[in-house]
Amino acid sequence: MKQTHAFQTEVKQLLHLMIHSLYSNKEIFLRELVSNAADAVDKLRFEALNDNSLLADDPELNIIITANPDDKTITISDNGIGMNEAEIIDHLGTIAKSGTKKFFEQLTGDAQKDAHLIGQFGVGFYSAFIVADQVTVESRRAGQPENQAVRWISKGDGEFTVETINKSKRGTDVILHLKEEEQNNLLSDWTLRRIVKTYSDHIAVPILMKKAPEYNEDGSVKTSDELEAVNRAQALWTLPKNDITPEQYQEFYRHVAHDFDEARTWTHFKVEGRQEYTGLLYVPKRAPFDLYERDPKHGVKLYVKRVFIMDDAKKLMPLYLRWVQGVIDSNDLPLNVSREILQESKDLDAIRAGSVKKVLSLLEDMQKNKPEEYAAFWKTFGNTLKEGIAEDFANKERIASLCYFASTHQDNETQSVSLADYVSRMKDGQDKIYYITADNYAAAKNSPHLEIFQKKGVEVLLLTDRVDEWVTSTLTEFDGKKLVSVAKGTLDLGNMADEAEKAEQKQAEEDNQNVVEIIKKALGDTVSDVRVTTRLTESPACLVVGEHEMSQHLARMLEAAGAGNQIPHNKPVLEINPSHLLIQKIKSESDETQQNQWAKLVYDQALLSEGGKLDNPAEFVKRMNQLILNTPV
Ligand code: ADP
Repeated sequence: MKQTHAFQTEVKQLLHLMIHSLYSNKEIFLRELVSNAADAVDKLRFEALNDNSLLADDPELNIIITANPDDKTITISDNGIGMNEAEIIDHLGTIAKSGTKKFFEQLTGDAQKDAHLIGQFGVGFYSAFIVADQVTVESRRAGQPENQAVRWISKGDGEFTVETINKSKRGTDVILHLKEEEQNNLLSDWTLRRIVKTYSDHIAVPILMKKAPEYNEDGSVKTSDELEAVNRAQALWTLPKNDITPEQYQEFYRHVAHDFDEARTWTHFKVEGRQEYTGLLYVPKRAPFDLYERDPKHGVKLYVKRVFIMDDAKKLMPLYLRWVQGVIDSNDLPLNVSREILQESKDLDAIRAGSVKKVLSLLEDMQKNKPEEYAAFWKTFGNTLKEGIAEDFANKERIASLCYFASTHQDNETQSVSLADYVSRMKDGQDKIYYITADNYAAAKNSPHLEIFQKKGVEVLLLTDRVDEWVTSTLTEFDGKKLVSVAKGTLDLGNMADEAEKAEQKQAEEDNQNVVEIIKKALGDTVSDVRVTTRLTESPACLVVGEHEMSQHLARMLEAAGAGNQIPHNKPVLEINPSHLLIQKIKSESDETQQNQWAKLVYDQALLSEGGKLDNPAEFVKRMNQLILNTPV
């Protein structure tokens, strides 16, 4: 019995978009369908490891493409895993990708921009509707009897039908009823052959088509119904590098990564020794939609001796390299390896460690030899790569060298300063790398904590990404130089402070003992201490925390994330600038109530200028107005 189902709303939207934005790229439909067919064959080969009978009736795995001019159809058949009724309804009626919501939010309605987004999201099966006005899918799951096959039909408008049919062979036939305007072009074997060669040559399964016509000696045409493979049908990563063109690497990338775009770069390596494995790993140009989802998909597929074992193999790459795409093919792991076994596998640990090093070398090479490419890479994946400093202890220094930051050395927020750049510009006598963390660039750049560094021409790194707090808590040194927050601890300029300045500081402390006491009394236990500083040249005051305490910025971030009760409530120290007129005003004020009001104003300002939130903003406004207007409190 035929049942009618409606597509999930997102599928309807995707179909509409696909048809309207990808028509200039229509040939990709074949690549996508062949790619799905190849995946289906891979999956069957894997299941057959445990149950060889699945292959018995039809052991030669392949994909067959035929043009049927009489019916105006093209059929892409595979003898892979197939789908049962529930699977076909689920797989070809809904989208189950993480990041789907984000994808739909980003759509603009501008066909060209959206075409890129769709590409990034992955076009897949639905691209069939770019060239077809009806698609019929007939599928029989491996292991199911002949009369338990299923037929799925849709015109791509909003619904599809499903019915049970007989199908003599396992696997899936995708039958495209071509739109009238496509028939001329696509019904030609020659065109199909060219498209397959262009996009799918790297597919490891043989793609069979009817033999090309030949000419007899007398000039007549000899046609035959025999099939021949039109692709190379060898796993690309097993070939020597010299035999692979950049275009072939890119086409393979599109297949493994399900990406529409090209890869930015790749590394192809073979490791021999205790563990033997081959890797072909790519750095994409764009970030996937689920990059920051809770359970992001990993991009590296595991093969054992050319047999596909699993995708989304989280153990093959650390979380901070979750965007790396490609394959790792091991010669030593057992073929029946499961996710559970992988979890414990020491062999896999070695493969992963080796592969991570290859990726880091690839990035180092790009950083050194193609700085512009690297800058573009950094913009896309820098934030996640940085997580590696905290996540991957063994490679901490290497990853740190690959990181770029914004800094006071330049006057825009581009992250383009490496720690090595910073070190090379350090002043005579400077032995530390200074940084500040803040919610955003403007807050960091204008922080009062930077004043003395500006005066002395010392560079400060401006860290404004969420992961930066985490990064700086792990990366305490680089190249033998300590990383120091300018908002923590007492100001220590090391050898950069000359004797005269030290004497000046001492004198200032003595001269301002009194005002320090006044402010301390006024603020009570809001602060842990009040002291005189030379770090300020323009602002009246700033807040600092102890060297080993959580920064105010991190405390605010945790609070915003709802982890307020986990924050240790360390009180900050208020540091004052004795030469500022406001501090002098407090000093010269005789009325104690007035002194209190000024002191509180100074504290609130210090909190505001580092991006903090006032407990009682209305009171602050009231107090400031009274002080400005000099009205009684
Ligand atoms: P993707 O391939 O990116 O997952 P598609 O929309 O192309 O997305 O396909 C959706 C799902 O449908 C696939 O993940 C697969 O499970 C199933 N599928 C598609 N084509 C085939 C096929 N030829 N054989 C078996 N399953 C298929």
